[in-house]
Amino acid sequence: MPITAAVAGVLMITQNPLPYAERLESRNPDSIQGVVIHCTETPDLAMAREFGEQIHYAESQTGNSGHFYIDVDGSIEQYVPEDRIAHHVAGHNRHTIGIELVNRGRWPDWHHSDHQELKTAYPDVQINALQSLLGQLERQLPSLVWIAGHEQLDTREVAASNDPDLTVARKVDPGPLFPWPEVLEHSRLQYKITIDETN
Ligand SMILES: [Zn+2]
Repeated sequence: MPITAAVAGVLMITQNPLPYAERLESRNPDSIQGVVIHCTETPDLAMAREFGEQIHYAESQTGNSGHFYIDVDGSIEQYVPEDRIAHHVAGHNRHTIGIELVNRGRWPDWHHSDHQELKTAYPDVQINALQSLLGQLERQLPSLVWIAGHEQLDTREVAASNDPDLTVARKVDPGPLFPWPEVLEHSRLQYKITIDETN
């Protein structure tokens, strides 16, 4: 039994549950089929945490967040346990895990028509941490089969904040700077662009 190898392979994940994590609907981990990659579109993790803690659903007293957050230095925090359904992607929450990468994205003018280009690269150390996390999830969750970006699952347009006659993409994360080939090369998950709505 290679105990030292197993210990060396343990991923450091800081447990930092959201105040409402226990109020999110529970699920059987065997029902988890997909991973959705996001970026926070905030300058730092602290602001992403603020957004995550905001209450958006009066009845359940819960809000929007991913399960895992990976900072630009590669450190990982878990905000929601895998066996709870987080609100991170419209129509696909029930059977997915949301992973958020800290990245400025379009911050602070998310829906301004002149501010749609994503310019902040994902540091190697952040992508390496993501790959380690994906590897751990693949081992823990045999039912996990696919991976997609938020932008592939939510293609809705919204009125631009600076001109209601223009439209911009509601979600663009993780965007063109996310290294899909590198991530997929080291993962057994299938890249899905269109997902069955029942998922
Ligand atoms: Zn997203």
